[in-house]
Amino acid sequence: MSDKWFNKPGKPLLIAGPCSAETEDQVLQTAIRLKNTGKADVFRAGIWKPRTRPGAFEGVGESGIPWLINAKKETGIPLAVEVAKAEHVEICLKYGIDIMWIGARTTVNPFAVQEIADALRGTNQIVFLKNPVNPDLDLWLGGMERLINAGLTRLGAIHRGFSFFGEKIYRNRPQWQIAIDFKTQMPDICMINDPSHICGNRHLLAKIAQKALDLNFDGLMIETHITPDQAWSDAAQQITPETYKSLIENLKIRDIEPADSLVKSHLDRLRREIDILDDEIMHVLASRMELAREIGYYKRNHNMTILQSERWKEILQKFIDRSQDNGLSEDFITQIIKAIHDESIEQQERVMSAELKLREVRE
Ligand code: PEP
Ligand code: MN
Repeated sequence: MSDKWFNKPGKPLLIAGPCSAETEDQVLQTAIRLKNTGKADVFRAGIWKPRTRPGAFEGVGESGIPWLINAKKETGIPLAVEVAKAEHVEICLKYGIDIMWIGARTTVNPFAVQEIADALRGTNQIVFLKNPVNPDLDLWLGGMERLINAGLTRLGAIHRGFSFFGEKIYRNRPQWQIAIDFKTQMPDICMINDPSHICGNRHLLAKIAQKALDLNFDGLMIETHITPDQAWSDAAQQITPETYKSLIENLKIRDIEPADSLVKSHLDRLRREIDILDDEIMHVLASRMELAREIGYYKRNHNMTILQSERWKEILQKFIDRSQDNGLSEDFITQIIKAIHDESIEQQERVMSAELKLREVRE
C-alpha cells in the first residue's frame, strides 16, 4: 500500500472537525484542540450545508473559508471542505483548500457530480465522494467514474451509510457489503468510513469505527466540536476533540497479513479448508436447485401450486430448531434458508412457464 497517495501501511487517514464551521472562534478552538490530540491528519468543516429541511442552518458560506485558512496557519493541519456545485469548487480552488468532498445528497445527482468533475478537470485535487443516500452501488461507482474521467487521480470514497424509513438503530444503515463491493471493484481508491453520519449518535461511533478498520478501510472521518451539544448541525453525533482522542487511541489497528511466517502458514491451511467447504456449499446448492427444478416439473404436470405453505413452514422451522445446536444465530439461518427458498421458487417458476425444458431439468 505504500505506493498509494493516501496512507502509510497500518496508519489510517484520520479526518476530524466540526460538521459545520459556525464562528471563527469555534473553528480555531476545534482545530487547536484537535492538534493537541495528535490524531488528526486533516481538519474537516462544512461551510455549505445541504440540509434536508429548509430553515435549518445552511452554513456560513464563503465567509467561513478565511477562518479555516487561519486555523490551518495556526495548526498546520490540511483542510477538507464539502462542495456541491462548480461554484463551490472554484472558491475552494481559489483558496487552495487541500481536500474537497462531495456529500451524499450530491452524489445522487449525476448532473451535479459531472459539473463538479468538469470544474476540477486539469487539477491534481484530492477529492472524496460520499456514497449516495440510497443504497445504489452503481450510482456511487458512476460518480467516481465521472471524477476519474475528468483526469483526477487522488480519489477517495466515503462510506457514510444509507438512509431508510422505519425503526432506527443507526441514522443511516451501514450496509457494509455495498462499501466492500465498491472496494472490490475500485481497489485503488482510498476508502474511508464516516461513523458520525452512520450512527447519528455518540455511543455507537467506536463500534462502527472499529468495524471499518477490521474491514481494512483506509481511514475515518469523525465529526468533532468544542461544545457538541451546542452544535448548529448534527449535534447528537459530534464529540469533543478529547473524546475523539480516546476513541482513536482505543481502536485496534490490525495487520492485513501476519508478519510471523508460522502464523501465516497456519492461516493459509485454515483458508484452504474454507475453500474446500465453499466448494461443497456450491455443489450442495447446485444439487438442491436441480431437485427443486425436478419437483417443479412434477408440479407442472400435476397442476399443483409452487408454494405449499405447510411444507415451507416445516422446512423453516426445522432449520430454526437446529440453528442453536449448530452455533448459528436464528437470524442468520432464517436469512439463508429464505434466500435458498426464494431461488427454488424462481427456478420452479421457470419450469412452470416452460422456460426450462425437461431435458434441461434432468441434465
Ligand atoms: C457532512 O459530512 O456533514 C454531511 C453533510 O454528510 P453527508 O453528505 O454524509 O450527509
Ligand atoms: Mn454532519
